[in-house]
Amino acid sequence: MMKLCKKLIIFLSLFIFLSCALAAKPVSVILMIGDGMGFEQIKAADYYFYGEEGRLSFESFPVKGSVTTYSADNDITDSAAAATAMATGQKVNNGVISKAIPGDGSNLVTLLKRAQQDGKSTGIVTTTMVTHATPAAFASHNLSRNNYAEIAADIFTVTKPNVVMGGGGPSAGIVTADVNSAGYNIAQNSTELRGLTGELACGFFGDGHMPYEYDGLGDYPHLNQMAVKALDLLDTSPAGFFLMIEGGRIDHACHSNDLVRAVYEVKEFSDTVQVVLDWMGSRDDVLLIVTADHETGGLSVTSNNGVDVLPTVTWSTDYHTAADVPLYAFGAGSELFSGKMDNTDIYDLILLQAF
Ligand SMILES: [Zn+2]
Repeated sequence: MMKLCKKLIIFLSLFIFLSCALAAKPVSVILMIGDGMGFEQIKAADYYFYGEEGRLSFESFPVKGSVTTYSADNDITDSAAAATAMATGQKVNNGVISKAIPGDGSNLVTLLKRAQQDGKSTGIVTTTMVTHATPAAFASHNLSRNNYAEIAADIFTVTKPNVVMGGGGPSAGIVTADVNSAGYNIAQNSTELRGLTGELACGFFGDGHMPYEYDGLGDYPHLNQMAVKALDLLDTSPAGFFLMIEGGRIDHACHSNDLVRAVYEVKEFSDTVQVVLDWMGSRDDVLLIVTADHETGGLSVTSNNGVDVLPTVTWSTDYHTAADVPLYAFGAGSELFSGKMDNTDIYDLILLQAF
């Protein structure tokens, strides 16, 4: 009996040792943020497109969690404070872009910066203006999310991510010629995006935010097409990359309590997660996190009306709420992201493992 126990202990020790040794460490990290995408936005899209819950690409991930989102000065965060929390691990006041407010106002070090310091390539992709709060918090520092021209200058002449894609133009504080002078190749429609190359590459698709999926994108690429191109451009260095991809307009549709546009935005975000998964294939060195910055609209789904029919819902506000948001993790190091966490933990956990 003793002999058997001893054998079992040795076997278990060996098993634990091997599991630890084999647990892959991510070389590259992809953080995908559905702006305003709470649990009920996901349910509404599931009902509309599939007639049942659990069908969006990320819902089958093995690791699931929920995230608290409050900011330094409010139970209800805005996108600037929430993105700063994920990008820097610090709670700041609403409206602040990756600066220590409250605090000494200094620039907070972002995940994107840490990736650069490790020799990784970096990118930000969104359906909003590229200078909007969420992408801005990963690639710039400002006292106010509204200073688009300053944010643009910071992104393209100071931080210089390798890839930047989304809405551009004067509304976004962007002078295309200046970005070109800073060394970037620029695509401005789907055809140009296909041919885009270079160490510094960006896509500006229209003036201001990109159109809603529901309204059609015309000559502009879908989020999933921008994501695939970004992966192509970034996956060149053995040191890996950090890429933030935002489904930015779920939030805008929910501010308008516009359910059909909201579910189409969630579906495109889910399809984008799917193309990222397809790209990951059997690679064991990539960590994929899918989450949201906050819930928008106080959405509550009250009945499923089947495929292609909008579910019955109620909205409680045209602003954000303090509701916890979902998190789904897949790939190398994903197991640490289960259960309840704070948005600042996302930064800590990514840093702990990857950079
Ligand atoms: Zn919002």
